[in-house]
Amino acid sequence: MIENEQKIIPKCPRCESIEGQMYSSFSKSGARRCVCRKCNYKYTLNRKYPKAFKDEAIRLYQTGLSAREVGKILNVNKGSVLNWIRKLQNDSTKI
Ligand SMILES: [Zn+2]
Repeated sequence: MIENEQKIIPKCPRCESIEGQMYSSFSKSGARRCVCRKCNYKYTLNRKYPKAFKDEAIRLYQTGLSAREVGKILNVNKGSVLNWIRKLQNDSTKI
């Protein structure tokens, strides 16, 4: 089950206000661009992925696909996929 990503509340990194934050557009990597109406600061809100989404990416990777291919299928960048895989590998070596 994938959680609704709209639960993420944008917060201005400059004035730290959560009021008056507006979504403008998406960047090429899929991150959401926001504008603070209080101080007019433009910033990028990193998309946070729910655990189920990461699990799916890892599952696909374990079927033999490359991180790049997984990224293409799930429409995320390769770097994110690699991060999740590395994190998983670190966790499993601790056991
Ligand atoms: Zn602001």
